[in-house]
Amino acid sequence: VQAETLLEVNNIEVIYNHVILVLKGVSLNVPKGGITALLGGNGAGKTTTLKAISNLLRSERGEVTKGSVKYRGKNVHDADPAELVRNGVIQVMEGRHCFEHLTVEENLLTGAYTRADRGAKIQQDLEMVYTYFPRLKERRKSQAGYTSGGEQQMVAMGRALMSRPETILLDEPSMGLAPQLVEQIFEIVKTINEQEGVTFLLAEQNTNVALRYAHYGYILESGRVVMDGPAAELRENPDVKEFYLGMS
Ligand code: ATP
Repeated sequence: VQAETLLEVNNIEVIYNHVILVLKGVSLNVPKGGITALLGGNGAGKTTTLKAISNLLRSERGEVTKGSVKYRGKNVHDADPAELVRNGVIQVMEGRHCFEHLTVEENLLTGAYTRADRGAKIQQDLEMVYTYFPRLKERRKSQAGYTSGGEQQMVAMGRALMSRPETILLDEPSMGLAPQLVEQIFEIVKTINEQEGVTFLLAEQNTNVALRYAHYGYILESGRVVMDGPAAELRENPDVKEFYLGMS
């Protein structure tokens, strides 16, 4: 049986500063319960695609000039980013963006601010986050600005989990991290996907690791999807091997 499509991006075009055409008709489907990877080199348009979905382009002077973005069949193209969070979609931005002066735990708690249920449930969810990220429990009283890059990535992901999302848009989780940590982060993504049923759309330059953890992948080049398929097939594709996996 085909899984229900949660997020549907249909032929979107994005222009920055009224003139710079960056996405030239990108379409993708994100099925419920899956891990979908958005791959491609530097500047291919991965971040722009995620920001178009969560409507975060305006502050960058970018706009979607064509196409549509639907979540559960509903047009979200013009939705307020906060409304999208209430609908269950949350974005973890590239470069983590922790509140540096707050502690790790305070950062996590900020993730629960859109929720109506307060108190005990939030304590439970904090414990849930700590089971996925034991390291954050150890560091919970530390000021986030003094934690390592890997820990800050965990804080950003943990904070997203605190909103009890249905879908997480994860931008470049591997950025700046040592290989071993990258592996650890992806292992956690997989566990959260399997145990909490959270759907992921992740943008990643590290094709190798992303295709080992994702179920399906889209490859972007200069603002266009040039290839897509089940991750296992992409891993075996000669062009993907040559151009993205560094083997031939
Ligand atoms: P990266 O891994 O570097 O983030 P990416 O695949 O996510 O790459 P984008 O960040 O989406 O790519 O950028 C796609 C293109 O859009 C690049 O050519 C970039 O220079 C351009 N771009 C991004 N942001 C802006 C902006 N605010 N104004 C103008 N051009 C931009």
